Amino acid sequence: MFIKDKDKTMKIARTIEELDAFREKLGEGTLAYVPTMGALHDGHLSLVRLARKKCDYVAVSIFVNPTQFAPDEDFNSYPRTEKEDAKKLEAEGVDILFLPTENVIYPEGKDLDIKAGNVAEGLETTFRPAFFDGVVNVVNRLFNAVKPDIAVFGEKDFQQLQVITQMVENESIPIKIIGAPTARDENGLALSSRNLYLSEDELVIARKLNIALREAAKTGDLEATGKALLDYGFDKIDYVETRWNRVLGAAWLGKTRLIDNIAIDEKVAAAAQ
Ligand code: AMP
Repeated sequence: MFIKDKDKTMKIARTIEELDAFREKLGEGTLAYVPTMGALHDGHLSLVRLARKKCDYVAVSIFVNPTQFAPDEDFNSYPRTEKEDAKKLEAEGVDILFLPTENVIYPEGKDLDIKAGNVAEGLETTFRPAFFDGVVNVVNRLFNAVKPDIAVFGEKDFQQLQVITQMVENESIPIKIIGAPTARDENGLALSSRNLYLSEDELVIARKLNIALREAAKTGDLEATGKALLDYGFDKIDYVETRWNRVLGAAWLGKTRLIDNIAIDEKVAAAAQ
């Protein structure tokens, strides 16, 4: 639909009431939504660009969700760069930026209403048992607040994309979930807000994760990939596994946990069967 008098300024909503008011003004136009935890990089912005192609309007939220962090994880130190983020989003032509506080999302406390489905089993859940329950609860609440037609999630967090897709099906939520390809730096490192934690030396090692997973996608030798990652300098490997015709990996560099995944070459997958 062509929106004739589209208001170009980005509206910032901090409450559900403000969000509802902005949402109402969009009228008949379709809305695409990109939920984020901020510290925005080109990966997030690539989702915003895809969202813009799909709908008349784009909404983005920034909310560092406490219920998806375990007590020993980085909730308090997670990078918060609201002003810079807002500038980037305005430059991308985002229509609504939703910046809720914890009270807005969890007005009656942080009890969880729903559970992640069976695609959450294994992989991330083995190492972060409460993570996907936190994710589905916050995304469900954000979806209820934003009421978009579509929502865009990154393939970078491939299991998360599957978990959200399953949640929408299970809960009969009328929102279309779209996956967006992983944005990488010139060395193939998947962009991530947590890359900000890495020292120069760690960055050099981090850039080997995608290389090792690409090798695994070619050879199918997951054990060798785990060993190679340790040789490259990773401190601990949580997993290197195949699922959904992908090799998925999670590994630690000091206190920073990195994840990535690579599609398995169809020819290799066929030969292995
Ligand atoms: P986060 O702020 O880390 O919660 O991520 C918000 C959204 O951006 C999620 O859907 C992520 O999968 C996505 N995302 C994060 N990094 C990338 C990347 N490098 N490429 C594509 N999408 C990404």
